[in-house]
Amino acid sequence: MRPYQPKRILVTGGGGFLGSHLCERLLDKGYEVICVDNFFSGSKNNIAHLLKNRNFELIRHDIIHPLYVEVDEIYNLACPASPIHYQYNPIKTVKTNVIGSINMLGLAKRIRAKILQASTSEVYGNPEKHPQDESYWGNVNPIGPRSCYDEGKRCAETLFFDYHRQNNVRIKVIRIFNTYGPRMHPKDGRVISNLIIQALTNQPLTVYGDGSQTRSFCYVDDMIDGMMRMMETSDEITGPINLGNPEEISILKLAELILKMCKSRSKIIFLPLPKDDPIRRRPDISLAKRILDWEPKISIEEGIEKTIAYFKSIL
Ligand code: NAD
Ligand code: UDP
Repeated sequence: MRPYQPKRILVTGGGGFLGSHLCERLLDKGYEVICVDNFFSGSKNNIAHLLKNRNFELIRHDIIHPLYVEVDEIYNLACPASPIHYQYNPIKTVKTNVIGSINMLGLAKRIRAKILQASTSEVYGNPEKHPQDESYWGNVNPIGPRSCYDEGKRCAETLFFDYHRQNNVRIKVIRIFNTYGPRMHPKDGRVISNLIIQALTNQPLTVYGDGSQTRSFCYVDDMIDGMMRMMETSDEITGPINLGNPEEISILKLAELILKMCKSRSKIIFLPLPKDDPIRRRPDISLAKRILDWEPKISIEEGIEKTIAYFKSIL
């Protein structure tokens, strides 16, 4: 670490949903933050309020190209996260995950920075084991429409562990389960943002399939807390560690809850289930509880209320 100076932290994908919350929380702790983003799925609006902070720096940059900065820690979040965004240009999604990770790991190696990878529950694919713990290797289709993301993230994990074994890079890998909250992109097609916007604008709520598929939704503040705890662990802790809320809910129940909380008169309609859509998903977070002393604190009702307030403010 550089002497007599606050920690300097690079956040790739810092203009996105999770990245912007992370930048904010790191600045609150008094750190210097360099935010790097190509604004493919993020937005300058997410970080506009941070631009006047002298500890905040913004670089428009695509991580598939090398980057030369001096920092103490790197959070690698750059990658579109919603199926609509990551399937828009699947080859680019793979490049971001593979070439982008190599660039960020090369940077971490050169400047001896600690680096955290935002991996995903998608590495478990359509899981045959329930709930999913970190020892499960997953059930992923290597050639389907979700593969660019799932296999890209799996390869990124491989690269992180190879840079660790081969070059002693200090790595931290977290597997993020579905996370939601203010600043989700209103058009990225993820279920919570879609359903809330539909309920608030009196459009039908689009449930894919019969809505019996499940997810476990974590509110953004809890997720950022978990991420930062992971970065602060000692060097021998590499992960992967699951971060998510173990409260599981079917998509139909979620739609009903959102209708009720928005006091909406919209109807629910059923549309075809997208190919390879995982049927069940719930994290086993025993490891996060034990190693990070972390578990989510915000209930789905409380989180959805805050998210509804956000979408009301921007619609
Ligand atoms: P997001 O799309 O809002 O944010 C991703 C950011 O990365 C965007 O600002 C985008 O413009 C930027 N980006 C994309 N490709 C880039 C590139 N090549 N170079 C530079 N910037 C690039 O998504 P999010 O929900 O904030 O997700 C952040 C990270 O967390 C992603 O890596 C995602 O895979 C991971 N994750 C998120 C969730 C979730 O539920 N939100 C779940 C699992 C994993
Ligand atoms: N989904 C839905 N209606 C929508 C958007 C999504 O029923 O308008 C379903 C989707 O098929 C999936 C679940 O909600 O089963 C979560 O989808 P999302 O895209 O938010 O996340 P992921 O599938 O990546 O977990």
